[in-house]
Amino acid sequence: MDHHDAAVEKISSTVKAFHEQKQPFRIYHGSTNTTRRSTRSVDTVVDLSELNRVLAISADKSTAIVEPNVPMDALVAETLKHGLVPPVVMEFPGITAGGAFSGTGGESSSFRWGTFDRIVNRIEIVLANGDVLWASEDENSDLFTGAAGSFGTLGIVTLLEVQLVPALSKLVELTYHPVQSVGEANKKLHGFCVTDPKWDYVDGIMFSKDSGVITTGRLMTEGDESLVTARYMRASDDWYYTNVQMKLASKTGGWVDIVPIQDYLFRYDRGAFCSSPAV
Ligand SMILES: Cc1cc2nc3c(=O)[nH]c(=O)nc-3n(C[C@H](O)[C@H](O)[C@H](O)COP(=O)(O)OP(=O)(O)OC[C@H]3O[C@@H](n4cnc5c(N)ncnc54)[C@H](O)[C@@H]3O)c2cc1C
Repeated sequence: MDHHDAAVEKISSTVKAFHEQKQPFRIYHGSTNTTRRSTRSVDTVVDLSELNRVLAISADKSTAIVEPNVPMDALVAETLKHGLVPPVVMEFPGITAGGAFSGTGGESSSFRWGTFDRIVNRIEIVLANGDVLWASEDENSDLFTGAAGSFGTLGIVTLLEVQLVPALSKLVELTYHPVQSVGEANKKLHGFCVTDPKWDYVDGIMFSKDSGVITTGRLMTEGDESLVTARYMRASDDWYYTNVQMKLASKTGGWVDIVPIQDYLFRYDRGAFCSSPAV
């Protein structure tokens, strides 16, 4: 923690100095997933770049102590070493823990868990006057609730305790349910998410108004790499949505794939769905 405490002390003094000068500032952490033009200037930023480590993982408590500039892919790689994974992992590997907590992020498990901030037990935060506090449901609870999704306006998050769930086999079993209309897709989504919410993940893609697929996923408790039937992360792999679209053309009754968990979690990274012709 020495390195962490020293970095937080530096951030706290920078913020204190801005506060005394009544100087507004922006948070900078070396990357962003926003597509807006940034108006920040180097003289008025608080730099969090070095807060980029997973400090501890407790298998007993199923938690990870994570600095805010840890991106999702690094967080998952670290927790999987302990057979654990955060129950909500945003699909873009570069989204950071601090950015997801402060800027809001959800995933195909959010129907069960809520947004990323809902899997955070407590945070260390530097307030606008430089004070450093802890906040949780039990301690400074108004600050804890308010800081989630408030884009850094209530303070700078410098450490997060993130909940984890077992992912021993590191595999996800995906079942694809073809649909022929948006109405049918909605009905199926309601069934999987509300009526019988037994799945770990529920996701869907509409390729056109009369062709799509709803996908249910479960973290497999047993199994190994030999069971894998699809991958999406290597240069030679299909992009996720093109692989699904091809299979949908021939497997009209639906199908099952078994994929490595990282391929599932970051399935929309290659061929990002937001820029695909299918959207
Ligand atoms: C192309 C694209 C795809 C996306 N896909 C998904 C997706 O699949 N699922 C999803 O849920 N979301 C998605 N998002 C939204 C994304 O999760 C949020 O924008 C998230 O806040 C980005 O995190 P970041 O690490 O890039 O943070 P930034 O963009 O750097 O920051 C987001 C906000 O949080 C503040 N902030 C950052 N770090 C801290 C900190 N340590 N303390 C206090 N405030 C801080 C920043 O000042 C900023 O206001 C997507 C966004 C884009 C542009």
